Amino acid sequence: MRLSELKPGDSAVITKILGHGAFRKRVMEMGFVKGREIKVMLQAPLSDPIKYRILDYEVSLRRAEASLLEVADVSEWTDSSEQKALTTQHDNPEEEVIRGDKIINVALLGNPNCGKTSLFNMVSGAHEHVGNYAGVTVDAKSGHMKYKGYRFNIVDLPGTYSLSAYSPEELYVLRYLRKETPDVIVNVVVGSNLERNLFLTTELIDMNRSMVIALNMYDEIEKSGQKLNYKYLGQLLGVPIVPTVASTGKGVNELLDRVIDVYEMRDPDVRHIHVNMGPAIENAISPLKDALKGMPNLQHHFSPRYLAIKFLEHDPEVERMLKPYREYEQLVTLRETGTNNIMKKLGEDPQAAIASEKYGFIEGALAETLDGTVKREQKTTEIIDAFVTNKLFGFPIFLIVMFVMFWCTFEIGNYPMEWIESLVSYISELIGNYMPEGPLKDLLLDGIIGGVGGVIVFLPNILILYAFISFMEDSGYMARVAFIMDKLMHKMGLHGKSFIPLVMGFGCNVPAIMSTRIIESKSSRLITVLINPFMSCSARIPIYVLLAGAFFPRHGTWVIFGLYLLGIAMAIITARLLRRFWFKKDETPFVMELPPYRMPTAKATLRAMWAKAEQYLKKMGGLILVASIIIWALSYFPRYSLEDIPQSYVAETGMLKDGKTLQSAGEDEKSAILNTYQQEHSILGHIGRACEPVVKPIGQTWKGCVSLIAGAAAKEVVVSTLGVLYVGDDDEAALSERLQEPSPVTGQPPFNPAKALAFMVFVLIYFPCIATIAAIIRETGSWKYGLFSVLYNTVLAWIVSFIVYRIALLI
Ligand code: GDP
Ligand code: MG
Repeated sequence: MRLSELKPGDSAVITKILGHGAFRKRVMEMGFVKGREIKVMLQAPLSDPIKYRILDYEVSLRRAEASLLEVADVSEWTDSSEQKALTTQHDNPEEEVIRGDKIINVALLGNPNCGKTSLFNMVSGAHEHVGNYAGVTVDAKSGHMKYKGYRFNIVDLPGTYSLSAYSPEELYVLRYLRKETPDVIVNVVVGSNLERNLFLTTELIDMNRSMVIALNMYDEIEKSGQKLNYKYLGQLLGVPIVPTVASTGKGVNELLDRVIDVYEMRDPDVRHIHVNMGPAIENAISPLKDALKGMPNLQHHFSPRYLAIKFLEHDPEVERMLKPYREYEQLVTLRETGTNNIMKKLGEDPQAAIASEKYGFIEGALAETLDGTVKREQKTTEIIDAFVTNKLFGFPIFLIVMFVMFWCTFEIGNYPMEWIESLVSYISELIGNYMPEGPLKDLLLDGIIGGVGGVIVFLPNILILYAFISFMEDSGYMARVAFIMDKLMHKMGLHGKSFIPLVMGFGCNVPAIMSTRIIESKSSRLITVLINPFMSCSARIPIYVLLAGAFFPRHGTWVIFGLYLLGIAMAIITARLLRRFWFKKDETPFVMELPPYRMPTAKATLRAMWAKAEQYLKKMGGLILVASIIIWALSYFPRYSLEDIPQSYVAETGMLKDGKTLQSAGEDEKSAILNTYQQEHSILGHIGRACEPVVKPIGQTWKGCVSLIAGAAAKEVVVSTLGVLYVGDDDEAALSERLQEPSPVTGQPPFNPAKALAFMVFVLIYFPCIATIAAIIRETGSWKYGLFSVLYNTVLAWIVSFIVYRIALLI
């Protein structure tokens, strides 16, 4: 509840003060402190301002100001303070406020790749994804911890270079700061690139928020031989600086200590400074600032100086914020005068002028505090970069890396796969031998082991792939790949930055689509989202390994590598088509940066693999298990017996030779006929046969068709469905063998090399799984794109696999 919501005569207890530094300080000085009781006396005629009684005197606040004070009911407050003596366990944060425990809301802010997420993980003990390139964090993650009697609520915000509202991340951070008003901001900066990192700091200083700087990657500064007098720098900036090494946790406690000091307003280094921007700009800012201060209804979320600067820069978000006010016209006039003066004196527009003045400020501060510029780390980086971003070697190196990645995934992954496979068949042997016949046994053997068992064997392949992707991200190689791909991507009408989501798509399309938020240009972003499903995700691996292993035993890796390339080709073609016919223009050019290389720790890589394994196993136990059981049930019911089978059916299929009838057939023949009839006339059989004509031209049977449709839930389900549908007489045989057994009806196996190839191509291209479609809709903000993805991809898949099938038949 906010103070502004109370009516005259109500009383309440203050639980929290939102709002930024100066306002916060002022109301606290007036006696609005957490835990104080306050009573509403009366409202002015236009309901603004409102008079309150606090301690023994009366003060009046504007409604806008009162809305920044959080209050709770007096009875609640006293009730729970009594309880506090009895209970020591508290879980609910809301409750803790009332009980009077101290909560500090901390937001982590900084450039991309400065170690925010690592710090967040260290402090909160969470396992967030850490990566060495811009834009891994696309959402805010929150966690909490207790330390010295305080509860820290920590939020990991997306990385930003500044606080203008141009990219989605910047806007996100800005809105977060406005709405959530963290008590203390931890501004994470990297020592190796202080100049650029401190740019954001200068904007935070303009905002006048309580903050602490975490000078992260301090190990690298030490290694480089640079000397930074961070204590003095902190004093210059008026912000305490604490050196940290987020990857090992060094300095984290000191950081938290400083956060507490700042929160309690007892840190000696805290001082409100102005980043002085020279007379021309300051003269433009002052009148704007004064005008903003004079606006009675203006929300006190941001400091007037910050608003004035951003307004001068034509920041769209600040523009939006100020537009509704009566005084807007007056502000615009002031801005015009200021802009003209700046242009005249400095020959630059305000935005450029402000940026260069700020860099001048930073340079000045560093000149006094930083010496020694021998950067050893930088040197190794340069040497490696000379090779991997080289015109001649760059591409071959990348292709080799990719090939090694796929080779390890599929060749080395085969060994553990065989172990799991034999374990699965051992279990089904046990069940087959010792369990009494009946539907339950059928469910276990054909439904669950056939389905889930068929998919679980691919766990090692997927783990290996993820180990590679995670290594490429953490080491910084991924950023180089984006760099060397830039030119090629431009040919597709995209930007090098689009390449990272595409490579991530090999793992899973969902996070890959989310990571497109790093792309500033809207049209490039949309195209990258739409072509992402062509990047063959790891869920499709089971299908490839199964079919390529069975039908191309000697050239498996090449076939799979070819499929991935085909996917990339489809992406390129689609991107070009989209650029030509749908999204004509690319708006913003942007810089690409090369973070220094870092050796990923084994721990980080193992952690990423473990997280993946856990997720995969959960998927097995959940979605895939359920899907397998449903598919099994649909193919199991209704039940038929031999009497239900008409003679004509037997004659049609030609399963009995030499004029034998159903009655005179042998036991084996009878059970084969019954099995086939059962499947074809089950619920699933009816559905499948209805859509068989669609897949016939690409060489598929109704069982393949049903599996493809079931793959909408998740691509692994394609394999589990095949596993359920192709149950042979020999339950222990691996699925790959069952797919090669001749069908009793036609005498031919369900797949041959050509059919298998067409099937894999179809799986590669056709509609994405539901999670991916949802991600597309969420990220593009329109169901239109989700629908496009489903229709376009499916039609394309049909056409391409038709062509592939026909060509394969000729060979
Ligand atoms: P974010 O983008 O700001 O969230 O940055 P991340 O937390 O994802 O970290 C980026 C990279 O820097 C990862 O590879 C981390 O392992 C690495 N890193 C983070 N903190 C440190 C540090 O203090 N020292 C060193 N050497 N590396 C670090
Ligand atoms: Mg991050």
